[in-house]
Amino acid sequence: MSYDYDKVEVPEGGSKIEPAEGSETELEVPDDPIIPIIYGDGVGSDVGPAAQKVLDAAAEATGREINWMRVYAGESAREKYDENLPEETVEAIKEHRVAIKGPLTTPVGAGFRSLNVALRKMLDLYANVRPTYHLDGVPSPVSEPGKMDMVTFRENTEDVYAGIEWEAGTDEVQQVKEFVEDEMGFDSTIHDGPVGIGVKPITEFGTKRLVRRAIDYALEHDRDSVTLVHKGNIMKFTEGAFRDWGYEVAEEEYGDEVITEDTLWEERDGEAPEDAVVVNDRIADNMLQQLLTRTENYDIIATMNLNGDYLSDAAGAQIGGLGIAPGANFGDGRCLAEPVHGSAPKYEGQDKVNPTAMILSGRIMLEYLGWDDAADLVRDAVEETISSGKVTYDLERQLDDAEKLATSEFAEEVVGNIEKLA
Ligand code: NAP
Repeated sequence: MSYDYDKVEVPEGGSKIEPAEGSETELEVPDDPIIPIIYGDGVGSDVGPAAQKVLDAAAEATGREINWMRVYAGESAREKYDENLPEETVEAIKEHRVAIKGPLTTPVGAGFRSLNVALRKMLDLYANVRPTYHLDGVPSPVSEPGKMDMVTFRENTEDVYAGIEWEAGTDEVQQVKEFVEDEMGFDSTIHDGPVGIGVKPITEFGTKRLVRRAIDYALEHDRDSVTLVHKGNIMKFTEGAFRDWGYEVAEEEYGDEVITEDTLWEERDGEAPEDAVVVNDRIADNMLQQLLTRTENYDIIATMNLNGDYLSDAAGAQIGGLGIAPGANFGDGRCLAEPVHGSAPKYEGQDKVNPTAMILSGRIMLEYLGWDDAADLVRDAVEETISSGKVTYDLERQLDDAEKLATSEFAEEVVGNIEKLA
């Protein structure tokens, strides 16, 4: 083993997920995999165990067993090991390839940088994937939430999230300012006085592997379109380049399977070849409107880090909000599932918040393992529970005649429904 097991809780049984022969991206998944789990900060200790129960039940109902390996990050790691992100945690996820985590708190303005961003970078989890679909019974601010069935692929390692920034008042920021003004010729662009400066790298490599992943997903899941979302009209050499490189992937790598929207109109009068995926693009602000006004037109979204963060939260609001919205981070042959929501510290330990987002993130993980039957069971059982009016506080306050359940009670109901539906 490449690391010290003192800082992880190793299960007694279980087998390792290994790469399939001759491949670094395909996995050989046993029926009793070892799966690392980080509960995380705040409400992570409420939703983590709840999701574990549900995923265990779905695995058992389909003749499998998950062997959980507890690993630590954030507050719990600081308490136990006096560090935010032990190397063992990162190594355990690398070694076992598929893992799930709850939210981790990031202090605003000062303190350490985001552990989420650090984990994504260290594990090269370059695609953050957020499916947004509506479950029956979930209250929504829009009249037809069922029209939303979208998957956002958000680039996870670049953009203003790359962490290249300098604090106001430091020598470094002064050096960067002088370089920009004196060497690069932007002499009256930055106001005088204290300034913080950040850098926004968007690379051809980062863009193309993300867009490829989105198109592959669209083809594998019989989706109609992939929309590149950018603000390239303003940020021409970063977001504009993302759009151009995205189209290059579509035009050069997929033959007849993929067609761009321009070609579709120029050459085929808008008639797409059967089973082809259409690649188009939208400017980010327009896209945020279209999410509401033309929801059903959008299928798969591929976008950069910051746009993806905003867009997927806005889309999540249409299908029930943060308590519901699941996600997962993917690298080549690696998956770290995690809900979209944060650590909601004011609710920590109250057995109150909605574990659905964490449970449905687990569903994405089950799909990645190739356990589609277990994944469907989880979705159906959650839907059955919510549509019978048994919900946590966040949904109960929006519904007439619903029964308010604690986090753990909701998970028990879902487990009961898994047993009934299996
Ligand atoms: P947040 O933790 O997501 O909570 C914001 C609000 O969303 C909550 O007050 C609650 O709204 C609702 N909410 C969140 N999770 C819910 C759940 N499971 N069930 C029901 N409602 C839920 O966002 P934040 O307060 O902006 O962030 C807190 C910390 O989390 C920050 O340190 C942030 O950096 C971190 N964060 C981490 C991740 C991650 O680990 N991936 C992601 C986002 C944020 P009501 O009070 O209105 O009911």
